Amino acid sequence: MASRRGSSSVTLPTGHTLAYTRTSEVDDLPHATKKKMADHLRRFETMFTMTPQRMRMIVEAFKDSLELGLSKSGQVVPMIPTYVFGWPSGEETGEFLAVDLGGTNLRVCLVKLNGGGKFEITQAKYRLTEEQKQEDGEKLFDFCGKCLKAFTDSIVESGELSKDRILPLGFTFSYPCSQEKIDHGTLIRWTKGFGAPNTEGRDVVEMFRNSLSQHDVPAEVVALTCDTTGTLIASHYVNPDTKIACIFGTGCNAAYMERVRDIPKIAHLGIDPEAEMAINCEWGAFDSFEHEHLPRTKYDITIDETSNKPGEQAFEKLISGRYLGEILRLIICELIDEGVVFLGQNTYKIEIPYSFDTAFLSLMESDPTDELLMVIGIFSHFFALETTLAERQFFRALARLVGRRAARLSACGIAAIVSKMGYLEEGCSVGADGSLYNKYPGFADRIHEGLQDIFGEKGRNIVTHHAEDGSGIGSAIVAAMTKLRKDQGLYSNL
Ligand code: ADP
Ligand code: MG
Repeated sequence: MASRRGSSSVTLPTGHTLAYTRTSEVDDLPHATKKKMADHLRRFETMFTMTPQRMRMIVEAFKDSLELGLSKSGQVVPMIPTYVFGWPSGEETGEFLAVDLGGTNLRVCLVKLNGGGKFEITQAKYRLTEEQKQEDGEKLFDFCGKCLKAFTDSIVESGELSKDRILPLGFTFSYPCSQEKIDHGTLIRWTKGFGAPNTEGRDVVEMFRNSLSQHDVPAEVVALTCDTTGTLIASHYVNPDTKIACIFGTGCNAAYMERVRDIPKIAHLGIDPEAEMAINCEWGAFDSFEHEHLPRTKYDITIDETSNKPGEQAFEKLISGRYLGEILRLIICELIDEGVVFLGQNTYKIEIPYSFDTAFLSLMESDPTDELLMVIGIFSHFFALETTLAERQFFRALARLVGRRAARLSACGIAAIVSKMGYLEEGCSVGADGSLYNKYPGFADRIHEGLQDIFGEKGRNIVTHHAEDGSGIGSAIVAAMTKLRKDQGLYSNL
């Protein structure tokens, strides 16, 4: 057997460079043969591959869910009216604060809208800990208030904000809320791994306002939006061909502009039926509870059942950054249990739930070396595991299957909106954001390929592009639009 002694180096996501000098001969360990890995791969290919026909069936069911959500409240896909009336003109101006309580970070921004689709932004980010996500809601909002106070103090000190000035604020809160007006939102349910008690069922704007006044923050909450609606508005601000926005980050969601006459559930509000309103689909909930349409594998079912919200966010759990790494990890753990891989090695590190970040899938897929040095680095550095080339190729192929399925399912969601709104012929631009979309190699290409599988050649008319910052710029534009609207006395109670 050939010796695998050698040395090489690899740069990890943490920025560290790892150098290897292999001293042990991995082939001495009882590794699976190339042929056996190929047999396993075929099994997973069958599980994770979606035919165009299957995709079209999903699109049809998805369209029905979207329609149902617009017609009645309390549906699986909630299709939330946002009270963002129509598109921005691009001429919105002024200074605004924007706060984004994201799945991973809390971000606070000072946004200067200069008109003509132009803006400036100053921002600060604060990492949210897993504990904070589970702490009492009041504490979580208190943390937001504290961070915002520190930020406004710092921009007063730097001279960017004059003392005693109170700025209008757009609050981006990307969890499903039912809204009766733009500065109100009752949290329907936490998603993306949050579980802070005493928040579901409450008005998060009120909770947020309380924390602002407690910390003396010079801000007035004008609008509550979600990252997705913000992305729709921000992308349209700079590129008016944008008709749909999607987020592929910790979670997964879409928003688009709907005609008020096609939102039967808000008919009682007496809004001009010809007016338009942005809809926050909260499409991550598609096919929840019943699980009739989506191709769930046993790994997906495990993720669902062991999550803090079983049954919920069925679509999101197949797609978003929070879960893709975990899907791959569960497959690897099963193969460990079956004695297929890592026999004789200590596997406790990879057996820790959620220890395999989705960023690893990105890195594995983009490894340019023949030896798959990046894959070596991930398994040895983070999990203390030795791999053979055959295993590394197998793991990379698995990552490809999981990543590709996520992109193709995303294409199904986009296709449902396109088809419902009749955008296929004229074509449209889809603003997309989130680490998965921005960093996962080939994610956008796979969405486009999926759209062509669904629609044929015409699928080329639908193009995704990297969106403008929705939770900073978008939220500020929404605040600006809302102020203008209310100053004009248009639906000022909404
Ligand atoms: P948020 O959802 O809080 O707005 P992001 O858009 O940055 O934040 O998404 C964070 C998610 O993206 C995490 O689940 C993380 O695992 C995943 N992620 C981070 N980096 C990458 C990457 N390079 N490739 C794929 N996924 C990534
Ligand atoms: Mg985000």
